[in-house]
Amino acid sequence: MPAAATIAPDTLIDRLRGITGPRGLITDDGDMAPFLEDWRKLYRGRAIAVVRPQSTEEVAGVVRLCAEAGIAIVPQGGNTGLVGGAVPGLDGASILLQLGRMNRIRTLDTLDFSMVVEAGCVLETVQRAAADAGRKFPLSLGAEGTAQIGGLIATNAGGIHVMRYGMMRDLVLGLEVVLPDGSVLSELTTLRKNNVGYDLKQLFIGAEGTLGIVTAASLKLFPQLRASRTLFFALPSLADGPKLLSLCREFTGDAVESFELIPRQGIDFATAHVAGVVDPLEGRPEWTVLTEISGRSDERLQEDLDRLVEEAFSAGLVTDGTIAQSEAQAKALWLLREAIVEGQRLAPGIQIKHDVSVQVSDVPAFVHAASEAIWRVHPDALINPFGHLGDGNIHFNVQLAAGASREAVDGVSDITYRVVDQFSGSISAEHGIGRLKAASYAKRCPKPRAELIARLRKAVDPKGLMNPLVFRAGK
Ligand SMILES: Cc1cc2nc3c(=O)[nH]c(=O)nc-3n(C[C@H](O)[C@H](O)[C@H](O)COP(=O)(O)OP(=O)(O)OC[C@H]3O[C@@H](n4cnc5c(N)ncnc54)[C@H](O)[C@@H]3O)c2cc1C
Repeated sequence: MPAAATIAPDTLIDRLRGITGPRGLITDDGDMAPFLEDWRKLYRGRAIAVVRPQSTEEVAGVVRLCAEAGIAIVPQGGNTGLVGGAVPGLDGASILLQLGRMNRIRTLDTLDFSMVVEAGCVLETVQRAAADAGRKFPLSLGAEGTAQIGGLIATNAGGIHVMRYGMMRDLVLGLEVVLPDGSVLSELTTLRKNNVGYDLKQLFIGAEGTLGIVTAASLKLFPQLRASRTLFFALPSLADGPKLLSLCREFTGDAVESFELIPRQGIDFATAHVAGVVDPLEGRPEWTVLTEISGRSDERLQEDLDRLVEEAFSAGLVTDGTIAQSEAQAKALWLLREAIVEGQRLAPGIQIKHDVSVQVSDVPAFVHAASEAIWRVHPDALINPFGHLGDGNIHFNVQLAAGASREAVDGVSDITYRVVDQFSGSISAEHGIGRLKAASYAKRCPKPRAELIARLRKAVDPKGLMNPLVFRAGK
């Protein structure tokens, strides 16, 4: 727990205003409210102030003041996190440090395939800046119009392109971080090789704001795709999904950009509740996949895809399929994928989300085992396992009837996570631990790992002021 504060609230606010100026400080309850509730509306908190610095120096000044005064800090980017890590607790004893005003693209180097951006840059802005320069920043996810680079780094975000380009961790070359004492660790290198001992940036990636404030990052860029196609296949069974993925990788020179599982239940949720979503194939197949494949030219890609499709049908790995013939058709297929979450949210009943991963080859057996285990207790549960089959990350979402008890909801997660354990999987593939999963993770975190994390946290943040509720069970 953080040490008790040693400063009067009014003095603190005056000194914060002195650092950020009046535009960088919000203290009115109504104006603070949107920052104090998480995206899923599971957590609502209170804060002394929402502080919105504009530069690394201002962040450092704020953090130094808080360290001196014993005030806890909860960092926040776009507030799209799904595990409650960006919202303070109810004691109203911390400040919320919102990075949105630090939104400059500092440099972009096309020859070096790198860019340096501030933490408050929205992902979509970064993608667009890269594209305008003829480059690609490949991280892509449903919240890209709001999520910010600092938050994406702090949660080690994933999304639809992980199988090709890796997670955020793989896309960061260097970081600038304000440490809990207010000093600045400036490692904004764009070097590809830099073998000088500990790779400190990796400590802060995925740390969910518990070790310091990310203020800027140097990122890897890639060439833009010369040709790409979006394909949608119906599978005879889920067991054929990993086999089809393997075939796609082999027949295209490993140029599969994304490979997403879409179950019948997901299509039904999306088409029933989200306007404009169309079921792409006849016959209501139970399992489908949406994949994007790239190539060096349209001609070569078409050749690869012709061979791939022929082989997939003759090997019995697909029963039907469609290849988007235009950007509009590709967009319609991706709209279906993106509408699954919203469709389930709008469906009657209680949605229970799980962001889990197992080995790619284990996905069919995992989905089968977890579904059976849940249906044994809740025969009427609707199960919607969709997502990133290409990297083994399934959003194993369950819908219980309206009125289901808190115990029933928690029980569904317990059952799901126990099956994940049987497959040596992870109960958090890409969303992080935050506050929501702290208790579930504490039960399974091996003791040496838990002890090392506690020692590390204590060493970097001895006063316990950085996002103190995150990773802590029972908070
Ligand atoms: C519709 C939707 C779709 C999504 N799809 C995906 C997906 O496919 N893959 C995926 O991985 N995630 C997904 N997410 C989750 C979410 O977008 C990610 O967790 C994202 O990385 C959070 O970024 P943010 O800027 O909103 O961070 P916030 O929610 O503001 O913060 C997240 C965490 O990072 C910390 N933090 C924020 N900024 C900083 C900083 N500058 N320094 C230190 N710590 C900081 C916060 O304290 C908090 O613990 C989705 C969310 C939504 C709403």
